[in-house]
Amino acid sequence: MGKTSKDKRDIYYRLAKEEGWRARSAFKLLQIDEVFHVLKGVTRAVDLCSAPGSWSQVLSKRLYQNKKEGEDVKIIAVDLQAMAPLPGVTQLQGDITKLSTANAIISHFDDQKAQLVICDGAPDVTGLHDIDEYIQSQLLLAALSITNHVLMPGGNFVAKIFRGKDTNLLYSHLRIFFEKVSIAKPASSRNSSIEAFVVCQNYSPPEGYVPQMINPMIDDVMLVTKESPEINKLLIPFVVCGDLRGFDSDMSYKLNLMDDCEYSYKEVVQKPIAPAYKDILDKIKNCSIKHSAITVDHSDDVNKEQV
Ligand code: SAM
Repeated sequence: MGKTSKDKRDIYYRLAKEEGWRARSAFKLLQIDEVFHVLKGVTRAVDLCSAPGSWSQVLSKRLYQNKKEGEDVKIIAVDLQAMAPLPGVTQLQGDITKLSTANAIISHFDDQKAQLVICDGAPDVTGLHDIDEYIQSQLLLAALSITNHVLMPGGNFVAKIFRGKDTNLLYSHLRIFFEKVSIAKPASSRNSSIEAFVVCQNYSPPEGYVPQMINPMIDDVMLVTKESPEINKLLIPFVVCGDLRGFDSDMSYKLNLMDDCEYSYKEVVQKPIAPAYKDILDKIKNCSIKHSAITVDHSDDVNKEQV
């Protein structure tokens, strides 16, 4: 294939080179911003899964333009892979699903929290949609956990998602933390790709919510409830019902439950009329009839091979 064929097939790839962006992805963030104005007035931002760095380039360009006199700009860029340096951008190399990376990011923010977190993270796509979608959702949830630690109330969060059957679940989860959640498909994102972006605006976590590095979709719910304030439990209601002083369904009890009351066997109120195991019961019944017939024969010393 000729050197220029990709330039012909992919206009955004070509424009990225012409305009000095490290990747065509720059246009996705720029186009999201055209509609949602997520970069407006921002001076502190985190770029998760940032390599090779075109979103960080967009941040760097815009944030330094936004800055008023005396104001500082803070841009933290994080990726598994090393990224060539960018002026005005602090880089961290690490896995965003790991607590150590999250802590390293969090340590850059104290009372001056970020106004924007963006995440363009994508796993190495396997081509198996279910797996790709699952891994992508794990990246998004890791990004949200970090966001819960570093984003200021009123801030915005933009992250890549793969549209699939769990999109509504993710959407509902994000809605707990943000007043408005939209799904954006920038023109520069190929129609053939299941990629889209959640644009979450006006960070407003539930009152009393304490940020935790957990993944509500896979982490042990009991672990969450043990260490969390009440409000955190609302994220995944796990409600134990009934009087806990009563019977334990995993225990065996003697037949005579109360000393002054004799046990008497009762038939079940209504037997299943067509249980799935009916066939096998019938077979066992026939077999035992045959078996008892054979037993009789056997007692009379008939051919044992029939038994
Ligand atoms: N936004 C970037 C840009 O504009 O140049 C492009 C990001 S690229 C599509 C996806 C990035 O996600 C890759 O660089 C990859 O290393 C990163 N990534 C995937 N999983 C990650 C993880 N668990 N932690 C950190 N980075 C991750």
